[in-house]
Amino acid sequence: MTLRPLGMDPALCLIGGAWTPPESRDTLELRNPSDGSTLCAIARGRAVDIDRAVEAAGAAIRGAWGRLPNFERGRILHRIGQAVLENVEALAELEALDVGKPLKQARADVLALARYMEFYAGAADKIHGATIPYLDGYTVYTLREPHGVTGHIIPWNYPMQIIGRSVGAALAMGNACVLKPAEEACLTALAFARIAQEAGLPDGALNVVPGLGSEAGAALAAHPGVHHISFTGSVGVGKLIQMAAAEHVVPVTLELGGKSPQLVFEDADVEAALPFLTNAGIQNAGQTCSASSRILVHRSRYDEVLAGMADRYGALRAGPAMADLDVGPLVSDRQREIVEGFIAKGADLEIAARGVVVADAPAGGAYVSPTLFTGAAPEHSLAQEEVFGPVQVVIPFDTEEEAISIANGTAYGLVASVWSADGARQMRLARKLRAGQVFLNNYGAGGGVELPFGGTGLSGHGREKGFEALYGFSTLKTVAALHG
Ligand code: ADP
Repeated sequence: MTLRPLGMDPALCLIGGAWTPPESRDTLELRNPSDGSTLCAIARGRAVDIDRAVEAAGAAIRGAWGRLPNFERGRILHRIGQAVLENVEALAELEALDVGKPLKQARADVLALARYMEFYAGAADKIHGATIPYLDGYTVYTLREPHGVTGHIIPWNYPMQIIGRSVGAALAMGNACVLKPAEEACLTALAFARIAQEAGLPDGALNVVPGLGSEAGAALAAHPGVHHISFTGSVGVGKLIQMAAAEHVVPVTLELGGKSPQLVFEDADVEAALPFLTNAGIQNAGQTCSASSRILVHRSRYDEVLAGMADRYGALRAGPAMADLDVGPLVSDRQREIVEGFIAKGADLEIAARGVVVADAPAGGAYVSPTLFTGAAPEHSLAQEEVFGPVQVVIPFDTEEEAISIANGTAYGLVASVWSADGARQMRLARKLRAGQVFLNNYGAGGGVELPFGGTGLSGHGREKGFEALYGFSTLKTVAALHG
């Protein structure tokens, strides 16, 4: 495979349509989480490079990109989506190598990226303002306008999917983007930018500056020339970004993870639930904002659910991304240490089952055995804190009220699901659960690029995905004409 699809050079930034090294010429080392080896050097962008990228984005807004009719923007996004589909294997291999995710997951991520481009291509000319009845002699209408320059600070867990949902929606609304991918995994961000360029995206509409969070990321969040910031990542960094953006009163969209529960009631179809209960915890080695890390089960079905999940955990195999097993390595040694720290915090709990790291997994890889815990009180740190690794806890409950109270009893509120045959209960819980998305008798709805996504509480605010994202990536102007 190639680390340079379409001739992309991983040590460069894309600024104003030109692939250039950062001004300092400094680089960072990118590592392969499957074996710990060095993959390649990437650019270490800093504030000065962010300045140039923001300037280029501003020029794109004032230039050809800013003048394009909505349907033309849609056509370009559609072409980008088609080009992504023509490069599924190359992009999937790059993402698998860089993030450590199994190839099948990486392929699904490429397809999601293409779907985001298709969805936002179709939506680009279908969002508009309204006319508002007002006083005699007036005509009042609203205009939906782009913010201008949008900053996108993204994490390493799903680079392609998150680029799709944030850059795709921002471009559809006519913004020009500055993208700061994560220092742990940025190759597909660069490859995507190359694909977009080849597909005819005008210069400066998408700029990419890799680098450290504390350097390039902080500079982007604090930049006075940026008009909106979208961030996906940790709660701690999300707070820093909101504070930095506040300096210039710049709106932010924050997606900060969760402790998402699945609630299994006495009348649930447990057979149907089991794959969702487990997969939602171990997908992408648990490094998923919307991972379901708490499984709440009515006591009458507890043993059955636990036994079913334990069977599945026992069959899980973790190994190198390219071996395409159930679980890959974590993204880095640092992440492995964090997750092992959480597993150590469960020393007072019972381990119901663990998956295995395959014997021939390279010693330098960041592997963790998927771990299923029982015996945790709802207040236990493993039932409260986001682990971001393949770790789940199973907790029994006796009544619906208790289930709701446990489900809503964390500082997060991203996703929840209800497994029950009782339609009234489904509707009741959909209202009562504190979450940005509630799934009834499923979890995750297959990714669903069409479905608004975002959280409440520590999970963040603002909505991405679906049409809703287009409102977040635009601003509304009211025009009131007094004509008599
Ligand atoms: P994780 O803990 O999962 O690595 P982070 O929240 O640290 O997630 O990182 C997500 C993104 O935020 C990355 O692109 C990272 O470089 C960036 N980042 C980290 N620190 C800062 C910061 N102080 N300001 C802006 N961006 C940052």
